[in-house]
Amino acid sequence: MRAGTGDPAVPPHSPSTEEPPEAWILAIGNELLIGRIVDTNSAWLARRLTFLGFRVRRIIKVPDDVDDISLELRRAIENAKVVITTGGLGPTYDDKTLEAVAQALGVPLELNENALKMVEKFYSEKGLPLTPERRKMALLPKGAKPISNPVGAAPGVLLEWNDRIIISLPGVPAEMKAIFDDHVAALLQRIAPPRKLWECRVVIKGVPESTLAPVLDDLARRNPEAYIKSHPKGHETRSPILDVRVLASSPVEGKAEEKAEEIAARIVEEARRLGGEVTERSCGRPD
Ligand code: ATP
Ligand code: MG
Repeated sequence: MRAGTGDPAVPPHSPSTEEPPEAWILAIGNELLIGRIVDTNSAWLARRLTFLGFRVRRIIKVPDDVDDISLELRRAIENAKVVITTGGLGPTYDDKTLEAVAQALGVPLELNENALKMVEKFYSEKGLPLTPERRKMALLPKGAKPISNPVGAAPGVLLEWNDRIIISLPGVPAEMKAIFDDHVAALLQRIAPPRKLWECRVVIKGVPESTLAPVLDDLARRNPEAYIKSHPKGHETRSPILDVRVLASSPVEGKAEEKAEEIAARIVEEARRLGGEVTERSCGRPD
């Protein structure tokens, strides 16, 4: 962790457990629910969390309503080791995320001196005074720590609650990504078991998705540690093209490669048996 975030005493994940720790994502904002903006933040976070070794079990979109947010947060905390929220950290009246975190945990909001310094610095560098709206961004749930925002005003917020971790990030994608990559990834890496990921891709021509589906379902059932997904590209019956991805992860060196490549080889075999042509086949570290 870098300066400004403290060094939370998060216990490392026990290497004896094979199951990846669970993560939930809450995307907050009325704009998401009226369809004005597409929730790209959650997809980005889900990808990052997956690669860090977490199993993302829920992505929930919630309106800017304290009761709604805190209800979903309580459910998330009950189930997940890590809960990440995005949106609603800003200076306006509809930015209610931290009020909801405080309500969910039954703690008050209080002025955090470190957060205030961060907010003050951001605005003073631009020659702007600290108004009540700007000060609002330094009101954190009691016990929380601010995470410095390298590109915007609102700090991210870290709260350790028993053995759970709640991280609140801004909604502006560039700010969310910068805080995550600069500070949050390192923190989460310490609690996730180190995992290797390996992804194989098989492109098949001439087999409808519905024909290959039972093969993939069967492979998925027998390989719960891998994620197998077909993406149809052509027309289902006239000119079917399937882009099949196999993502395997394992804490054991070499195991993800072995698993993904074994499953990909089976898919190739079955596709040919079904009369398909394999036009592309590759494996590598996912990006
Ligand atoms: P700010 O300090 O700018 O107010 P904030 O944390 O309050 O940040 P929001 O007000 O919720 O964030 O969102 C700010 C903008 O970020 C939105 O108008 C939208 O353009 C974008 N945004 C918010 N949430 C998401 C999301 N889940 N996916 C993609 N973009 C988002
Ligand atoms: Mg806002």
